[in-house]
Order: sequence, then C-alpha cells, then structure tokens
Amino acid sequence: MFEKPNLLSFSPADFINFLKNKNIRKFYFVYDDEKKTLITSHIQLQSIADYFIKDKRDFIKHEGWFCKVSENYDMLLGAFVHRTNRGQAAGGVRYWDYDTIESYFRDGLRLGAGMTFKNALAGLWWGGGKGVIAHNPKVDRMNPEVRKKIYKEYGSFISSLNGCYVTAEDVGTSVEDMANVFSGTRFTTCIPQEFGGSGNPSIPTARGIISGMEAALEFLGLGTLEGKTVAVQGLGHVGEPLVRFLFDKNVKKVVAADINSDHISSAKNNFAGRNFECIQINKNDLSIFSKDCDIFSPNATGAVLNPQTIPMLKAKIVCGAANNQLEDMKRDGKALHVKDIYYVPDFLTNRMGIVTCANEQYGYINNDPSIENHFSRNWEHSIFNRTVQILKESKEKNIPTSDIALKLADKLSKKNHPVFGHRGKQIIKSLVENEWHLK
Ligand code: NAD
Repeated sequence: MFEKPNLLSFSPADFINFLKNKNIRKFYFVYDDEKKTLITSHIQLQSIADYFIKDKRDFIKHEGWFCKVSENYDMLLGAFVHRTNRGQAAGGVRYWDYDTIESYFRDGLRLGAGMTFKNALAGLWWGGGKGVIAHNPKVDRMNPEVRKKIYKEYGSFISSLNGCYVTAEDVGTSVEDMANVFSGTRFTTCIPQEFGGSGNPSIPTARGIISGMEAALEFLGLGTLEGKTVAVQGLGHVGEPLVRFLFDKNVKKVVAADINSDHISSAKNNFAGRNFECIQINKNDLSIFSKDCDIFSPNATGAVLNPQTIPMLKAKIVCGAANNQLEDMKRDGKALHVKDIYYVPDFLTNRMGIVTCANEQYGYINNDPSIENHFSRNWEHSIFNRTVQILKESKEKNIPTSDIALKLADKLSKKNHPVFGHRGKQIIKSLVENEWHLK
C-alpha cells in the first residue's frame, strides 16, 4: 500500500489556498515515457505525482494534465489530456462540484481516458481528453456575469495549451457558455450554430442507440426491432426522440420512466395512441429495471448498472446513451456477461455527440457522409458493425463485451494520425520546455 498525500483530501477551496500560499497559479503533471515517471511543475506537488504514478485505477499513463486557479471566483480550471496519437485530445468541459481535490483529479483522468476510447472506436482522428472546472460553492453559478468571466477565461486557458486539448460542451456547460469559451480560443467545438457550430446532437445520439439495438438483435438472431418491447430510463434530450424512433421501427411496446413531471407529460402527449406505458418515478424507484422487455435502455444518469440493478434485469440486451452506465467496469461488465445479457458498451453507441461536433471545422453538407457513415452497415467503424464485431468476439472468447470494446478501443487509440502523427505529445513537451507554468 502507498500512502495518500494529505493534499489530496483537501477541498478544492483549501487546495487553492495552499497554492496561493506557495505562489502557484498554474501547475501540471506530465508523464515521462522514458523515465516512466510523472513529472510535475512544482516540487510542492511531487507527493501527488508520486501517488498517481502508482494508481491502478484512473491514471493510465495520461500524457498530461494542466490546471490554473481562475483569476476571479477561486475556481480550478483543468485540462486532462489522455492520449493524442490519433490527434489533439478532444472532449467536453464539465463544470461540477467536488468535495476533494482527489475526486476532481480522478474525474478528469477517468473522463479524459473515456474520450480516448470513444473517439478511437468511432474512427475519429482525434485523441481523448476532458476539461473540468471545479465550482466554488460560495459563488452563484447561475449568475450570467460569473459564467461569462469563467468561460472566457477557460477559453484563454485552453489557448495557452497550444492545441494539445480541444474543448467542447459537457455536463454543467451550456451552448451559451461555449460562445464565451470561443471568444477566448480557437481550440473549441460545440460552438453556437450562428458561429458555425453543429447544434443539438441529441437526435443523432438517439439514432446511434437505435443502430446499437439493431446490431445486437441481428447478432442474436432475434430479427429487427419490429414487435419488440423496450424499457427506456429517462425521457430527456435523447430518451424522447429515441422513443419516437422506436415507434417508427414498429416496436410492440415502450415502457418508460422519468423523474421529471414535465418530461413525462410531454412524452404522454407526443405518444398518445401508441402502446406507451410512461411512469413518473422518484429517483430511488428502480422498478423500470425489472420490466418485462427485450431491451433495457438507460438514458438518464451514470452508474445505473450495478449489483443492485443487474439481478433485476429481464432484458436480453442493454443499450442506451447514458455515460458510464457500469458502476464498476470490470465487476458489472462481468455480472452482465454471466447473466447472459448482451451489453452494448455506452462509449460505442453514444458517440454521436462528439462525432457531430468534433469535425465542425470541416463544414456541413446534406446527408453528410461523415455523419451518416456511423449509421451505415458498410463502414468498419459504424455503430452497427462495431457492435456486431464486439458481441461476436465476446461470445467466442467468453469475455464481457465491455472488456472486448475497451481492448479494441485501446488498440485503435494508439494508431498515429495519418498526417500529423503524435503531435499532441510534442505540444505537451514544448509546453514543459517553455515553462508554461510560469507564464
Ligand atoms: P437530459 O438531462 O436531457 O435527460 C436525462 C433524463 O433522465 C431527464 O429527463 C431526467 O429527468 C431523467 N432522469 C434523471 N434521473 C433519473 C432516474 N433516476 N430515473 C429516470 N429518469 C431519470 O440528458 P440527455 O442529453 O438526454 O442525455 C442522457 C444521457 O446520455 C446522459 O447520461 C448523457 O450524459 C448521455 N449522453 C447524451 C448525449 C447527447 O447527445 N445528449 C451524448 C452522449 C451521451
């Protein structure tokens, strides 16, 4: 066992005070491939580097992470770059509350690596990374002035990283916030449509889930969606259009649950006359998991597949958009596999958010092949083909689908960009050489 440095138990506010006392405004942790160590910009942070280099869970040789204390409001701005072989690290910026600085770092590391795997499986020429802003609970996050200043500064912070990370929208960040980010950097996507952005990705995301479902049904010899019963958890931006697509495919029945009464009444309205059972639940109600159905589709929050819910499932297939559906990737992936439930990994099917925004700079065309390819059956990286490939290998090797998908994504993510090679890593090296932390 190795001891956790006290610093990691600090709240973000206490950590920021510590940094200020040491005159540290910006810091980094960068992985040194040759020496197999994690180097840091400041000796005062060495214990954190020594801790994470031995971590077996969330630190997977991330190329580097960079943080800055905001000029106003004492928030921590961060960019967590996992792997950039396929291109600059791409992934959204999350604005969230954290109890400790360890949970802040871990979230950034975990989410950053998740983007590497999602982007690689989608065949995108992008690496993986994530931005994280630690909210200061003393500040009103809904105040437009606060948001404007924080996101503008976040944009400038990203510019200072010379393009090793390209940001986007994520939980806690809105499209208006992205306009402010865009005013400070060119290294962003998901900007408002009036500036050339791609707009709401939820409809393509829902279409992607349909592709995953169809692939799993076909692989299992169960035909098409026609006549099937699907249980849908969450009727938000993705869940609602998903139900519409399911009825378009002539499913027999949809059972859906949500905690939000507005979403329930709008769905009841929209699907009146259909075989639609729609229940409003409270957030501890797990009844949707035990519905008789062919497919269970999680489209609400993460970590919903766990030792409590997996034994309740009656579906043969799990396929939905929610991020990080498995509470514990290894444990819960295995539990589903042992129960003979075919889990279509979330980072395979819910790719369309990043797919639609990542390549905004290439412009738009009708029936855009760079989008439509993902829904096709004749492109190796399409959602359908990758799903079939992963389920097949899982069955042949008797290994959980989540493990197979991760292994494949890991392999693909190590392929270098055909034009720019592993440039992101060179950018990080240059930042270190240029003493980014002192600028
Ligand atoms: P959303 O916030 O619009 O919808 C989520 C819905 O789930 C809401 O209606 C909410 O009331 C409901 N909900 C929350 N807790 C619930 C519970 N315990 N039981 C039942 N319902 C519950 O979000 P969204 O954009 O529809 O995204 C859904 C999921 O998919 C999220 O996990 C998101 O991160 C992920 N995702 C979304 C996209 C996208 O394009 N929007 C892309 C990739 C991944």
